[in-house]
Amino acid sequence: MPDTAPAETTADPMIEAERITKIYHIKEGLFGAKKEIRAVDDVSLTVRRGETVALVGESGSGKSTLARIILGLTEATSGSVRLQGQDIAGMPDTARARLVQPIFQDPYSSLNPRRTVAEIIARPLHLRGVAASERMKRAQEMMEVVRLPVRLLHSYPLHLSGGQRQRVAIARAMVNRPEVLICDEPTSALDVSVQAQILNLLADLQAEFGLTTLIITHDMAVVHQLAQRVAVLLQGKLVEEGPAAQVLIAPREEYTRALLQAAPRFDMALMDGAAAP
Ligand code: ADP
Ligand code: MG
Repeated sequence: MPDTAPAETTADPMIEAERITKIYHIKEGLFGAKKEIRAVDDVSLTVRRGETVALVGESGSGKSTLARIILGLTEATSGSVRLQGQDIAGMPDTARARLVQPIFQDPYSSLNPRRTVAEIIARPLHLRGVAASERMKRAQEMMEVVRLPVRLLHSYPLHLSGGQRQRVAIARAMVNRPEVLICDEPTSALDVSVQAQILNLLADLQAEFGLTTLIITHDMAVVHQLAQRVAVLLQGKLVEEGPAAQVLIAPREEYTRALLQAAPRFDMALMDGAAAP
């Protein structure tokens, strides 16, 4: 369990989601009545500077919807989001992008196949009007940050492995030095052998840049490695929230217990203080 990050309640709140609700209206069949889905139902969540919070819950529980609302990619039906104290409603895209960046599950579909790695990583700089020579320099630096060989700057995503693609996505997310990362199942599309490397990289970046992270995952080993706190969603509602150690070892909710038991790679021997097998 990482215990070095400042998880104290005195650190500045970096993400403040307040009473977020998202209702989707879907039509059932061609002439069907409209049905209401409460994808997120009155959820409030605060993540403080330097903290990593894991958001867990079964498929369809509203995790990605909440993440997209915090990222400003989906509009909430009601509720508000503040990033570093500023309401994201009406915040210019460029300002929001410098505060918060996403890392998604599938690093292939999130990378433009027609752009080189250098172009992909430097794209956020390009959009800000940074000159070409400076962009190349920054792209090179970012390759070091995510531990990729500089020669790959001229490659296309098609020629990279899944792990390398996710490193490129991380480099692009980090190029503007954001305060907050929102990671939506960042390793679940990768080979198991590569997952640990990407998690180690994320852990190192958190420590090096003092990032604040919200990470969505199914994998309790991820929670164990990266998170100080865990928030549990069930059918759009926040049903449990607490220190990772407490939630992993002594969940209050039956649903959380079931999630833990169903989780891949969850092994009690991983737990600090648990007896070795
Ligand atoms: P999770 O990431 O936990 O699997 P999601 O946030 O993707 O859950 O989805 C929560 C609920 O909202 C699901 O019932 C899903 O079908 C529904 N949903 C998500 N996005 C949309 C959308 N764009 N239109 C209609 N329903 C949606
Ligand atoms: Mg999802």
